[in-house]
Amino acid sequence: VSSHDPVIGLDIGGTKIAAGWVVNGALVGDLITEPTPVSPESFLTAQAKLVEALQAKHPEQMAKLIGISTAGMVDALNGKVVGSTGNLPALQGHPNLKADLESRTGLTVHVENDANAAAFGEFAVGSGQPYDSVLLITLGTGVGGGIIINGDMLRGAHFAAGEIGHIGIAQTKDRRCTCGRWDCWEAYASGTGLKQTARLILKGVAKSDAVAVLRGPKPIEDVRTHDVIDSWKAGNAVAQQIMDQWHEDIAIGLGSVMNVIDPDAVVIGGGLAQFVNYEQLSRQLELRAMSPYFKLHPATLSNAGIVGAALLAQKYAIPSPAHAA
Ligand SMILES: [Zn+2]
Repeated sequence: VSSHDPVIGLDIGGTKIAAGWVVNGALVGDLITEPTPVSPESFLTAQAKLVEALQAKHPEQMAKLIGISTAGMVDALNGKVVGSTGNLPALQGHPNLKADLESRTGLTVHVENDANAAAFGEFAVGSGQPYDSVLLITLGTGVGGGIIINGDMLRGAHFAAGEIGHIGIAQTKDRRCTCGRWDCWEAYASGTGLKQTARLILKGVAKSDAVAVLRGPKPIEDVRTHDVIDSWKAGNAVAQQIMDQWHEDIAIGLGSVMNVIDPDAVVIGGGLAQFVNYEQLSRQLELRAMSPYFKLHPATLSNAGIVGAALLAQKYAIPSPAHAA
């Protein structure tokens, strides 16, 4: 398989499966989607249907490889999902997704965790492109991460490397994380964490100041992320204080991860990346990172997961014995 050959990228999400035709690390044509089925049998059928549709759309050259990006902890060497697939019941019916989809399609399949796939996409063709070692963090409902060291995906001995949202940044047991543990970085730097920080700060200011950030009379408990963002954009000083604390919280965890892996660059993705002040965060990281030579960039790819999964398949896919040429 040459690196110029087409690869089918599949992104398995909680509500839909998206598929795209990837050539030389670029998406060719539009993505096609299917709703994510609940039953394991329909789950495989939906993926096979997307693969067939893409092959039919591109009769000039058949794809021989499929790269999958999925939630859950993934044994990427064997294509097995080994943990945490809570929102994907159908996936639990396919403990060996690689073997099952290969016998269904006859193609070679590579499966990777979604944060790793997105990180590899940014590394290979996005804003991490000029660098050898890249750390991707995603700031959204949670905090995710993917780590590429000297061009290789870092997966760890049990495929749990890159779970950077769950490093501890306190001992106070003030905030419970979605993973069940206390004081994880995610409980501070995610959108949920930002909301909790907003509640704390709003409880300590005059009522009129709180009402201004809340964009109207409602309980402080009901503050939404975009109330804070909108007030911050409008120049509100209390909202600025909340956003400053959020940047400090991002820097605490990020600086620690950087001191472990010393990346060339940190790429920030996820829904909240657009609200990061990169200059402010850089200054805070300079105070924490042992190496001053890091670069900080916003993520640039809109389909990093699909493109990354396809590129990972080209780099790492091992044909199953039954399908080896
Ligand atoms: Zn956690």
